[in-house]
Amino acid sequence: MPQRFALMITPVDAADARDDYSDTFAPMDVEAPALSVGEFSTQRGDGVFESIGVIDGHANEVEAHVQRLAHSAEICDLPAPNLEQWRQAVATAATLVPAGEAVVKLILSRGVEHGPAPTAWATASPAPDFAAVRRGGVRVVTLDRGYDLDAARRAPWLLLGAKTLSYAVNMAALREAHRRGADDAVFVTRDGHVLEAPTASLILRIGDEFVTPAPSGGILHGTTQLSVYEHLESRGFRTRYATLTASDLAAADAAWLVSSIRLAVAITAVDGAPLASDPALTAELNAFLLSPR
Ligand code: PLP
Repeated sequence: MPQRFALMITPVDAADARDDYSDTFAPMDVEAPALSVGEFSTQRGDGVFESIGVIDGHANEVEAHVQRLAHSAEICDLPAPNLEQWRQAVATAATLVPAGEAVVKLILSRGVEHGPAPTAWATASPAPDFAAVRRGGVRVVTLDRGYDLDAARRAPWLLLGAKTLSYAVNMAALREAHRRGADDAVFVTRDGHVLEAPTASLILRIGDEFVTPAPSGGILHGTTQLSVYEHLESRGFRTRYATLTASDLAAADAAWLVSSIRLAVAITAVDGAPLASDPALTAELNAFLLSPR
């Protein structure tokens, strides 16, 4: 069975209601060229995306992902996606990959100049093996994000809170973390508040409570964080959103980075100082996140 797949999607209007969108999906040869050289996604990173975890053919948290795709599109002034069309694209892509852990990626680009419509596609491929990091955790460094907590409200053209294709900054932050001898980074605002990691949300345990930075525009609202909160609440734990400082992270009783494909990884050190972890709870969270949701 081939390992990677791509489906080109002809986006239809959000109001276009039909039972079956399969004739708007065209399987592509992943090795063959598929995009025009005039594509704004490749020229400017002008588009939005989602990465969805798939386990044995079941795509997790599809609704939260397609809703966030629509939210990102709205922030970027892209045409509203037809949610049912995207749900069906996810379902189709999820059946194409072999059993085990996989990733379905959805991409909605502004398309080409004067083009008839945005360009859209979905890919499906096996996920990297994250078993070791789920067990062993990550050492993080805090990195300056370069703006303050109010920037998203004050400057909406920065598109903070949208999951845009422009991840060059996020990847540069990971390289900087590696240069500093760490595995991952946590972004901190100019005014000292922790935000998120370059590809994951942050959750702290402070006493009996679980706390995550409020998604007030400057960060993505993580679908995995939402799932983890549901699980923790069902276990009787208290959860909340808050404005948290870098000192809150350093003083936490435990902390995790959570995301759709790597799932939950414990933070074992912050800026070189060890942080306590809870391996039993990390294992429990990953067992939950690996189950169909
Ligand atoms: N924050 C950023 C910047 C991300 O890139 C991601 C995921 O890629 C997340 C948070 C976590 O989001 P999710 O749990 O929906 O994967």
